[in-house]
Amino acid sequence: MLEVRTALPTELAAIGDLTADTYVAEGYVNGADGGYAATLRDAVTRAEQALLLVAVVDGALVGTVTLAFGGSGFAETAAPDEAVIRMLVTSPSARGQGVGNALVLACLDAAREAGCTVVRLSTQATMTAAHRVYERLGFTRTPADDWSPEPGVDLLTYALPLSFCGFCGRGLDGGHEACGRALELDPPRYCARCRRRMVVQVHPTGWSARCIEHGTLEG
Ligand SMILES: [Zn+2]
Ligand SMILES: [Zn+2]
Repeated sequence: MLEVRTALPTELAAIGDLTADTYVAEGYVNGADGGYAATLRDAVTRAEQALLLVAVVDGALVGTVTLAFGGSGFAETAAPDEAVIRMLVTSPSARGQGVGNALVLACLDAAREAGCTVVRLSTQATMTAAHRVYERLGFTRTPADDWSPEPGVDLLTYALPLSFCGFCGRGLDGGHEACGRALELDPPRYCARCRRRMVVQVHPTGWSARCIEHGTLEG
C-alpha cells in the first residue's frame, strides 16, 4: 500500500541519503558529499523551511519530494502565490509503481490548499522519467524561465496553473481583463479550480454553475 505523507523527524537522515545517493548514482550531481550533494543530503533544513513529503510502502521509504512556497527557503525567487516542486526522488527499487506520480499529486493538493495559483519546477534535461510524470499531470514547458545554476547544468522549467479563468478556461496568469468583464455579466463556463466545464442554469433571478467535483456557484 503506497502512502504519501509529511516526513517524520526520525526519517530525515534516511530521506537525505535517498535523495543525495539517487542524484549521485544517476549522475545528476558530481561528488557524493560537497556542493549540491550536501544540500540534497540535508533533509533537516528542508523540513524546517518547506513541506517535506515521503512515499512509504509497507513502512519502507520509497520516495520523497520537497514543496517550497514562494519567497521561502528553496523557492527564493518564486512569487508569494507560487509553489515550487524540488528534489523529487523515487528509490531505484520502486520505479514504475506510480511513486513519483503520487508525490507530485500530493504537492498539487498541498499547493492548492495553501492558496497557490501556480506550481513550478526546474528539472535536468536527462530526467526523462520525471518529465513524463509532469507532462501526464498537465505541466507545460516554460522555456523563457529555463536557467543554468552552474556552467554545464541546464535546467528545463515547467509550470502548472492551479487556478483557471472561469470564462476562457486557460490558466490565470494575466491577460484575462476582457474575460473578467464578460464574467460580470455571464455565469462562469469553467471551474476555476479544475478547469472542468460547468453545468450552467439560468433562472429568472440569477444563475447557478455547477462543477461535478467542486460544487455549485450562484450568481
Ligand atoms: Zn480568460
Ligand atoms: Zn471543479
